[in-house]
Amino acid sequence: MTLSLPLWIGGRAVAGTSVITRENPARPTEIVGQVAAGDAALTAEAIGAAHAAAGPWAATPVSDRTRLVRDAIEAASAANPERARLLASELGKVVTDALGELGFAAALARYAAPLAERLCADVVVEDDEGRLVIVQEPFGVVAAITPWNAPVILASLKVVPALMTGNTMVLKPSPLAPLAVTEFLSAVAAGLPDGVLNIVNGGADVGEALVSDPRVAKVTFTGGLVTARSIASTAAKRVTPTVMELGGNDAAIFLRDAEYTEDMYIRAVFGAFLTSGQVCMATKRIFVPRERHDEFVAGFTAAAATALKVGDPLAAESTMGPVVTRDHQERLHALIASAEAAGGVLHRIGDVEIPDADGYWVHPAVVTGLADDHPLVADEQFGPVVPILAYDTEDEVIERANAVEQSLASSVWSTDEAHAQAVARRLDVGFTFLNCANRAGTSLRAPFGGRGLSGHGREFGEAGIAEYLQTHAINYPNAIRTGTARGNAYPVPA
Ligand code: NAD
Repeated sequence: MTLSLPLWIGGRAVAGTSVITRENPARPTEIVGQVAAGDAALTAEAIGAAHAAAGPWAATPVSDRTRLVRDAIEAASAANPERARLLASELGKVVTDALGELGFAAALARYAAPLAERLCADVVVEDDEGRLVIVQEPFGVVAAITPWNAPVILASLKVVPALMTGNTMVLKPSPLAPLAVTEFLSAVAAGLPDGVLNIVNGGADVGEALVSDPRVAKVTFTGGLVTARSIASTAAKRVTPTVMELGGNDAAIFLRDAEYTEDMYIRAVFGAFLTSGQVCMATKRIFVPRERHDEFVAGFTAAAATALKVGDPLAAESTMGPVVTRDHQERLHALIASAEAAGGVLHRIGDVEIPDADGYWVHPAVVTGLADDHPLVADEQFGPVVPILAYDTEDEVIERANAVEQSLASSVWSTDEAHAQAVARRLDVGFTFLNCANRAGTSLRAPFGGRGLSGHGREFGEAGIAEYLQTHAINYPNAIRTGTARGNAYPVPA
């Protein structure tokens, strides 16, 4: 029987108004499952449930909230091995990575609990000026809209901090990978008071209904720039605050004093090709010193041929699966054709035996000889095809690395840490990995997010929790309390 998941609203399973069916990108004739999709009315009902739960949840002591969220996630995580197969089947992410992704929620909850408890505490300043109490308050109902490429991690990065700090939430996952995240977070929601966490699947219509509802106090979005612009313009009507985690066109800069060892190439390969390159912080452009260019291309492609086992995402030995949809596959193939037409040289990696010719496979490759204004270099490709670009001087490579609009992350590769740090500081990005890239370089304690058209706001770290709190300052000047203030004097301390 095909898996069929309902919506989760106000503590109960609710039927939708339509159905989203998800096929397996590795074998598109195989239907993995269905989720119920909502409409504007069901979205309003979910916001109503979150709104009704917001007061009591905010009034629950933070230590109880963090315990409830942690326990609910731990309990739901027991089914992760089976759930990993579901995630791998709906998304094409290899099963070992899918299992790691599912484990992230519990790790984040363990990390965030003590921090949330500290950040929710009042800050009291007692000094000559008087008593200032800075109360840390939740926003109320948070709308979370998430993408498909790491559906559980990217939803958890919103659910865990928002709920622990006393907000309630309506989550709308992506219709392209809704199954594992809905099944997992419905189980988490069932372990929490009714209405604290609600899930409404659907497309842009549900997203728009969420963002435009006046009961939504904050919108947290991860996804693409086109959607971000639409959300921002809707949010602007009520000046609703947003967190925007958008795309990146991340540069990996290999300095002249980098290692150039097999081990380095393997790290660089996973930095670029994890989840078939469909990661916001994946390496999207590789810069190498001109005199090292040919050696780099040979070393990188040889390492990739060993490290990348393209195959069935459910097979334990696979390290790379297909891309998410037929549309995305066709877009990437068109990009490769355009790169070759523009004089780029395509270096296909390894002998890939595609398990099912109808699957959404893209042969991993690097492209050399492209100009910086070719779309494969200038824009985020989000796939397993990466340009390698030669540079002459450090000033030049820093300028070229910075010359894109999507400044999310980057990496600098050098055997001299001081050198790497100095170059990193000149990059106009929100995150720089040293001697690694992508997942291997992330840390629960390191704030992650972009600038410019890569978005604003942070996830991970203390900043990623503080994002869901707003301050309320209660100030009682001594001069007023003691009656020594003269008229309307400026409160400047003596
Ligand atoms: P997308 O923008 O197409 O969709 C994201 C979500 O927005 C989905 O749930 C979608 O249904 C919803 N949506 C679509 N139109 C909407 C509208 N008008 N109003 C409200 N919601 C709407 O993005 P995607 O293809 O799912 O994700 C890929 C993008 O996400 C890439 O650019 C990637 O780099 C980026 N991303 C960023 C991060 C980060 O942390 N910065 C992480 C992962 C992915």
